[in-house]
Amino acid sequence: MEWTAEAEAAIKKVPFFVRKKVRARVEKEAQEAGRSVVSILEVNAAKERYLHRMESEVKGYRLDCCFGPSGCPNRAAPGDSLAQKIESLLKNQDILTFLRGHVKGSLKFHHEFRVAIAECPNACSQPQIQDIGIIGACVPGITGEPCSRCESCVDVCREEAVSLNPDENCPSILADKCLKCGRCIPVCPTGTIAEARKGYRVQLGGKLGRHPRLATELPGIYGEEEVVSIVKDCLVLYKGKSRNGKRFAEIVTESDIQGISQRHPKEKNPFETS
Ligand code: SF4
Ligand code: SF4
Ligand code: SF4
Repeated sequence: MEWTAEAEAAIKKVPFFVRKKVRARVEKEAQEAGRSVVSILEVNAAKERYLHRMESEVKGYRLDCCFGPSGCPNRAAPGDSLAQKIESLLKNQDILTFLRGHVKGSLKFHHEFRVAIAECPNACSQPQIQDIGIIGACVPGITGEPCSRCESCVDVCREEAVSLNPDENCPSILADKCLKCGRCIPVCPTGTIAEARKGYRVQLGGKLGRHPRLATELPGIYGEEEVVSIVKDCLVLYKGKSRNGKRFAEIVTESDIQGISQRHPKEKNPFETS
């Protein structure tokens, strides 16, 4: 939607943590009012509502998704329904009522439980700094088909995770370097590298603010249903331990993360021999 220069300048002054929301809301309201151009009047009205009547805008959770489903070629994730399933889980959990019961004073956006889905390791929706971050993964495996040593896999891998051993007729992939972007799979002409599985990496307990921390990654690659089940597990933990608006990152401990990991065991790569 078109914005006037004045409106663009005004939206840039909105605090960064609510700017995206305010921008989307301004456009929605301008469209509903039949406008084709956003002017300063629409921006000021929305800013007033957001910043001075924030409590009525808080819905208890926030789910951010990257633009992968709109056709991003980097997508590594398997399907389109995960965001919908998680949105419906978050809604059914009624986090807003929980927050109202446990937060002293008025609710703010920073009290909301945050989940982000990025459909590839480029992580455009910033999953590493959310309560739960979900990252699409396409895991490569070595099939045993003879390798022609064309080196396409080595060239395409930005992580330097693939190497060709002169004594062996197949490549090696370093698991601790590989980000599971899947880019080495389609470039392999011989089928020596193939898709072992698609799913999601899951990271827990990230946040920004006064004491920022990056989320801790669970060890597995999980299917959609397993991801939904992990989110549910985290919400039980959150509701059991969070008081007075404490973020998930502030209450989740290493042993909590270990427990979650044990309750959701990772699946084996089908091409692994041991
Ligand atoms: S995270 Fe990946 S799939 Fe999603 S928009 Fe960014 S580059 Fe595309
Ligand atoms: S999946 Fe991506 S990061 Fe992993 S080896 Fe292939 S190209 Fe490299
Ligand atoms: S792309 Fe395939 S054939 Fe070429 S070097 Fe890599 S594994 Fe071998």
